[in-house]
Amino acid sequence: MHWSERKGKFPVARFLFLDRDGERKLLSRNEKLETRDFSGRTLVVATLLLVLTASAPWAEEKQVSVYGPRVSYSLPVAEHNGQDYVALLEALEPFGSVSARVEGQKWKLRFNRLEADFRQNGNWGKVAGRKFGLPGPFVLESNRGLVPLRALPAILGLMLATRTEYHEAGRRLFLGGVATHFTTAARETGLSLNFSAPVNPLISTEPGKLKMTFTRDAVVASTNILRLENPLVSSVTFSESNGQAEVVVLGHVPLLAQFAADRRAIEIVPAPGVAKTAPPVAAPETAPAALGAPAVVGTVPAAVAVPPPPTLQSLAAKPLFVVMLDAGHGGDDRGALLSETLEEKAVTLAFARRLRSELQGRGISAVMSRDADVTIPIEQRAAMADAARVAIFVSLHAASQGRGVRVYTAMINSATPTPGGFVPWDTAQADYVLTSRALADLVKAELGKYEIPNSEFSAPLKPLNNVGAAAIGIELAPSGEDVASVNAGVYQQRIAAALAEAIVVGRPRVEAQR
Ligand SMILES: [Zn+2]
Repeated sequence: MHWSERKGKFPVARFLFLDRDGERKLLSRNEKLETRDFSGRTLVVATLLLVLTASAPWAEEKQVSVYGPRVSYSLPVAEHNGQDYVALLEALEPFGSVSARVEGQKWKLRFNRLEADFRQNGNWGKVAGRKFGLPGPFVLESNRGLVPLRALPAILGLMLATRTEYHEAGRRLFLGGVATHFTTAARETGLSLNFSAPVNPLISTEPGKLKMTFTRDAVVASTNILRLENPLVSSVTFSESNGQAEVVVLGHVPLLAQFAADRRAIEIVPAPGVAKTAPPVAAPETAPAALGAPAVVGTVPAAVAVPPPPTLQSLAAKPLFVVMLDAGHGGDDRGALLSETLEEKAVTLAFARRLRSELQGRGISAVMSRDADVTIPIEQRAAMADAARVAIFVSLHAASQGRGVRVYTAMINSATPTPGGFVPWDTAQADYVLTSRALADLVKAELGKYEIPNSEFSAPLKPLNNVGAAAIGIELAPSGEDVASVNAGVYQQRIAAALAEAIVVGRPRVEAQR
């Protein structure tokens, strides 16, 4: 079940390569692989509502990103004498065999068949016997050769014999004319962004705002701001900083991004529950007037007021009743290996989909933290639930041990008022834990009716502790000796039905607390 894994910071990829097959490879030893990996071949449409809170950890670290035709990577930037510097050997490593040696004050670099020379504090460099000036002194530090960042485009251009384009303010270096362009197309249902190459942005949302951060993608734009006359989206803004490009979409309602399978298109649509559960519009008593015909006035009785469309204020005042189903693990994180062929991440996703349809069949809106085999850090799962202001969060796991279902709630004390009403992130659950436990009791009772063996636990679980809503964890175990039974359709369906029933019964209590 692996509740506690991936609780560290969202790892930052340093050297992340795309080879010819689009596979990601990591060359650096000291950094972890970027965890978001999407395999276009296995997805039809990945619907992602990814949320980050506060500032991203990597944003604090100064970096430059280099985009090449086949590789893209970021390098740390360090300051020396008030100037930005990068390590030259690391910058060349992705492109071929590279080595360096120190000879007294000299630093000699060999890249493929090219030789380059630099000298400690020298304001020049030499590539293949050709001397060129540096905008600042060369720095030799612990045998590492550092060059002024502003010289990197020229040095890489020389050594790779390629055209370079440097966006200095955003610290983004493009090699060989590589660039990913995009166009926008307004649709009645939202906005579609079409890219000239597959993209893999990190997406965060807050009400009315959706932000896409591109680190590995050479996304560029010809205009920085695009204002739109669209019922859902008002503007699209492009910016570059710290080796990243950012596209911010401002909307009139909470927004959600959906990726096409080939990851060349992103559809911006209203977040789940916004459009579908909007107050029903009263049906007009007469057929709609044909275009050009005189408007029909006074046929709708005054008592049948047409409710206004949901605005941010009205959504804030009365949150919709939405259940978030969080299929544990996914993508790089397969969870437990339940049998030789059965991975936990597949079981949790299959069950989440069954539970979603059981809930929807009972008129309850359900959203999924993931609806595909994708990696989502554990903190983002809680952040998603909070941003979407869900009523109930259900974390789903599976195990090969035991029988039936284990129901979890956070092990946390019920909230005590804190000065200023500030609720710390790691105890966001405190206000809700009594409701969560009441819900867990209902789940147990309903499972009993379906004759599913069950037990209830409190445990200090991530992300339950971080969710500011009623939150329970459900761990599926096999129904019998055969471990594969944990993934059996009929068995999962019965559990999903019991859970959905419990949520229907528990809804008034949950609503009372919101
Ligand atoms: Zn698990």
